Amino acid sequence: MKTVRVAVVGAGVIGFSTAVCIAEALPSCSVTLLADKFSPDTTSDGAAGILFAAKFPDIPLERQRRWFKDSFDHLLAIAQSQHSPEAGVMLSSGWQIFKEVPADKKPFWSEFVIGFRSMTDRELKRFPDHKFGQAFTTIKCECTSYLPWLEKRFRKAGGQLQQRRVTSLDELSSSYDIIVNCSGLGSKMLVGDNQVYPVRGQVLKVEAPWLQHFIRDGDGKTYIYPGVHSVTLGGTRQEGDWRLQVDEGDTESILERCSRLEPSLREAKVLSKWVGLRPSRRNPRVEREVVQLQGRRVPVVHNYGHGGWGVTLAWGTALVALGLVRNCLREMPPQAKL
Ligand SMILES: Cc1cc2nc3c(=O)[nH]c(=O)nc-3n(C[C@H](O)[C@H](O)[C@H](O)COP(=O)(O)OP(=O)(O)OC[C@H]3O[C@@H](n4cnc5c(N)ncnc54)[C@H](O)[C@@H]3O)c2cc1C
Repeated sequence: MKTVRVAVVGAGVIGFSTAVCIAEALPSCSVTLLADKFSPDTTSDGAAGILFAAKFPDIPLERQRRWFKDSFDHLLAIAQSQHSPEAGVMLSSGWQIFKEVPADKKPFWSEFVIGFRSMTDRELKRFPDHKFGQAFTTIKCECTSYLPWLEKRFRKAGGQLQQRRVTSLDELSSSYDIIVNCSGLGSKMLVGDNQVYPVRGQVLKVEAPWLQHFIRDGDGKTYIYPGVHSVTLGGTRQEGDWRLQVDEGDTESILERCSRLEPSLREAKVLSKWVGLRPSRRNPRVEREVVQLQGRRVPVVHNYGHGGWGVTLAWGTALVALGLVRNCLREMPPQAKL
């Protein structure tokens, strides 16, 4: 029997991953996912969805390695199964190139991706402005397919959906026993977190089916990611910029930078332009607290602030959030679980 009512706020890759983990692992919970925007209208939907990561400054590296590994293994299993096309999860091989040799030639995630190695001089020759490069196979997870696939999994596990804007956690306190906050940038308003800020990213989708390898400049600003239906070209990283409109200056700059790396892109047809705001924070917030809401003490589990790495870390941090929900259940008075 389902006895504990759990609300998950947010229908991006973090919210759906977390909701699926909870609904599948805890049959005693009735899980409702609430959000004002669902796929294809979330930030997650526009992400290229390539898996690798940067280091967050204050989180022990071992924990970040675990987040990455759990996500990678979960998505690799999907990529190697019959679900791959429906879920939009596939292997992707290519190069990350650097104008200057980086201090850390072997990033912490290098042992989890497949076949990580330094590029040879012969491979680097086509990038005359770059001195160093890394070649590897990682995963590309396209959220326009992955989110509907997770939604199906969630419903199969008994989960329910509600489209609504939550203006305050107070609204949820009488209907739910545990609240899980996966509202991304929305956390600035919803839980008053002023540490969350946008990093604007503009990307283009182009038709270039001849491209099979990703190319990413190590500065994170210029990238070419071939996908199932198109190639994503990026990008921009504009901190504190809330503009959601396409900026034609950015469009030109993206096309110019990407074509310098891959001249054949000068022939590619632009299919669409998109802007998203990365829900950034110095460190993602994955923790629980107890909040006084309408006179009740309600456990709240937070899972947001993944910046430019939400697709990469979604499953790993969802598993941590699941553990935190389990801890809330353990600490509930017995009558709450009846
Ligand atoms: C251009 C670009 C490229 C990217 N490329 C990559 C990449 O290659 N790899 C990678 O790992 N990451 C990438 N990212 C980052 C990635 O998109 C994010 O980290 C990720 O989407 C964050 O997911 P989320 O679920 O936290 O947020 P979102 O997808 O924004 O979802 C937030 C959800 O919360 C809901 N919500 C918020 N507030 C409320 C409220 N008050 N009431 C109800 N619902 C609410 C929203 O409606 C939405 O459903 C990229 C981002 C951008 C912009």
